[in-house]
Amino acid sequence: MRIAIVGGGAAAVALLDSLALLDARPSSVTVFEPSARLWSGRAYGPDLDAVRVNAPPVIMSIRHGDQEHYARWLGERAAAHLDERLGAPLVPRALYGEYLREVATAAMARLPVDVRRDRVTRVARHGAELVVRTSGGDEQAVDRVVLCVGGGTPHDLFGLAGTPGYVADPYPLARTLPDVPSDSAVAVIGSGLTAVDVVVALASAGHAGPITLMSRSGVLPHVWQRPVRYEPRHLTAARLRDVRTTGDVARLLRAELDELGKDFDAFAADLLATPFEDPVVRLRRQLAAIDAPELGRRIVQQAAHTLGPLTWGVLEDRDRLTGEHRRTAVSVSSPMVPVNAVQLDRLLARGQLTLVRGLRAVVPGFHITTTDNDPRAESGLRADGGLRADVVVNAVNPAPHSVPEAAASLVASLLADGLATTGPEGGLEVPAGAPLHVVGDLAAGGTFVTSSIPAVAAQAAATAQALADQ
Ligand SMILES: Cc1cc2nc3c(=O)[nH]c(=O)nc-3n(C[C@H](O)[C@H](O)[C@H](O)COP(=O)(O)OP(=O)(O)OC[C@H]3O[C@@H](n4cnc5c(N)ncnc54)[C@H](O)[C@@H]3O)c2cc1C
Repeated sequence: MRIAIVGGGAAAVALLDSLALLDARPSSVTVFEPSARLWSGRAYGPDLDAVRVNAPPVIMSIRHGDQEHYARWLGERAAAHLDERLGAPLVPRALYGEYLREVATAAMARLPVDVRRDRVTRVARHGAELVVRTSGGDEQAVDRVVLCVGGGTPHDLFGLAGTPGYVADPYPLARTLPDVPSDSAVAVIGSGLTAVDVVVALASAGHAGPITLMSRSGVLPHVWQRPVRYEPRHLTAARLRDVRTTGDVARLLRAELDELGKDFDAFAADLLATPFEDPVVRLRRQLAAIDAPELGRRIVQQAAHTLGPLTWGVLEDRDRLTGEHRRTAVSVSSPMVPVNAVQLDRLLARGQLTLVRGLRAVVPGFHITTTDNDPRAESGLRADGGLRADVVVNAVNPAPHSVPEAAASLVASLLADGLATTGPEGGLEVPAGAPLHVVGDLAAGGTFVTSSIPAVAAQAAATAQALADQ
């Protein structure tokens, strides 16, 4: 079987690794990747050391079914990157990229892999074959195509592209931050994990000017707690087969916490307060609770990433998690690492960092309007009742299941040829038996969070098995 893999990031590495572990091997594998970030993809290329992975090693294994794979690779390197508060190593993302490169290299020693540094612009059906066309004009016939194109780059919500002082895509921060004058007023659009990365990187580069995180909700990611080994007894894959609503899931969580003698109502009330509570107060309370024995948040985080994808499709009211509770759901299931939370807290206490909610518009200049009359919005950026900034950094990530710009024409060709259809919540659905597979964020049917490493690794393992079975 001849396989084409479109995209050479973490999803492609997971797929190659899974294929190399199977007895039935393909006759050829061609990986198409136009960027310089072969095997590291968008997230794990060379960058500042302050830009770290967002999760402990147990969540970062690229090999599905072997949770310790990455921790074993890390070995003695772990000691130099220990996050004392978390009790686990959090390495610079570029070091994680080295792990991915080594896994890919090992897989290539077992598989006939050819790498083409070109962008795929079209895939078309020719009889039983698929013909892959690249931007360089090359064509290659294969039997199966696997899309591993990722989720793309931030959207330009306020049409600021090309405006001097506007950073459209912050990564790699090693490239974008040197252009930010040290005493400038920086406003960051977004308050999620990418915005946290920007603040921490600015601080590590000795930025002296005011920094403002601006978003509609003002919600920060929750803070990781120390990992604890716990096997849920109620919130399990078997029990989730019978759920139909988010209320059913909440009842399983209640049973879980009841059995542990914990107060479900207090836990739920704290979670639901996320968009309304002062985010700084919340951040500080969570910093104090990193070691706390309460398991509620840990159980929810684990379930969101491992069980969420299995249950998502049957939840009749899942629009609650993509609508009214989206920020809360994303914030609790994709937390920030303690070392970054501590840095944010320091900058907030010093008055250098301010959080602004109710963001409405940013216009060249930069003038910023918000609906927030909250005194917390007072900062070095405020002038004449509005906000001003010298530099605006875009830290708004694409919604889950977005089509990356680099794959737009390719996706259009697949839809036109009937090889795929658009899912009800975005992403691509592939008809059963089609010679096409999707691994990563572009796959339809995923949850409210963009694909994390465990989700990508699980999809890759299932895809490798499906290819072998075919
Ligand atoms: C900044 C950042 C940090 C993250 N940190 C974590 C973390 O710490 N832990 C975690 O679990 N998850 C994290 N994630 C989630 C992340 O999405 C996954 O971990 C993983 O990197 C996704 O890999 P991917 O291969 O699907 O996508 P990508 O890494 O985006 O790779 C897709 C590749 O496809 C290529 N491509 C696109 N279109 C075409 C085309 N038409 N032809 C050929 N090639 C194409 C692109 O050039 C790109 O290299 C992070 C995400 C981001 C953006």
